[in-house]
Amino acid sequence: MKTIGVIGGMSWESSAEYYRLLNSEMKARMGGHHNARSLMATVDFAEIEALQRAGDWDALGVLMAQAASQLERGGADIVLLATNTMHRVRAAIEAAIAIPFLHIADPTGEALRAAGVTRVGLLGTRYTMEQDFYVGRLREVHGIEAIVPDAGERDNVHGIIYDELCHGIVKDGSRAVYQRVIDALAERGAQGVILGCTEITLLISAADSSLPVFDTTALHAKAAVDWALKA
Ligand code: GLU
Repeated sequence: MKTIGVIGGMSWESSAEYYRLLNSEMKARMGGHHNARSLMATVDFAEIEALQRAGDWDALGVLMAQAASQLERGGADIVLLATNTMHRVRAAIEAAIAIPFLHIADPTGEALRAAGVTRVGLLGTRYTMEQDFYVGRLREVHGIEAIVPDAGERDNVHGIIYDELCHGIVKDGSRAVYQRVIDALAERGAQGVILGCTEITLLISAADSSLPVFDTTALHAKAAVDWALKA
């Protein structure tokens, strides 16, 4: 079994979910007392969140590259970045390490293709929904068209992530907001919805959604376990 390195802390609420999923998934495959070999490099989210608001993606790239190098030096065989948003600086991470980097959009794109979904709704932070690094990856690597909520809905989706979910606050009212946003995406022809922020899984499950759900946290963790078990 190989060692999975996770850049975490963005937020730690979702990193805890990664830790749970990596281990439960490995135990489901291997049985007994098996769990995943892993390392986590946890950054301080206050610093990250402030740099995001300032739009200083260069500084964020440096911080993510440092965390990835820490994991490599510590013996990780692969690096996972446990946030969709910070994949904006994927290139800085890949340039800093010799071990593979498992892009969160790739297992998601593969799951969408396997399900025959060609037009999908994307929920995430404003950065993920509005910049091209994520939608572009789905389009260019996987041939999938991602559509996003309208501007007012994007504000609500973004605000609930930073003001509630990243603090571990899960409200029924916010679930209802997300459900309405998902319904609107369905009306615009989305065949599924990507939970494209690693905290959304804390709020929305398959049973809450009128569309089939593609949960990036679960798909990413599962793909990492697949990789760790490959010879
Ligand atoms: N975990 C979130 C994501 O998947 C948002 C927090 C962050 O800004 O990294 O995008």
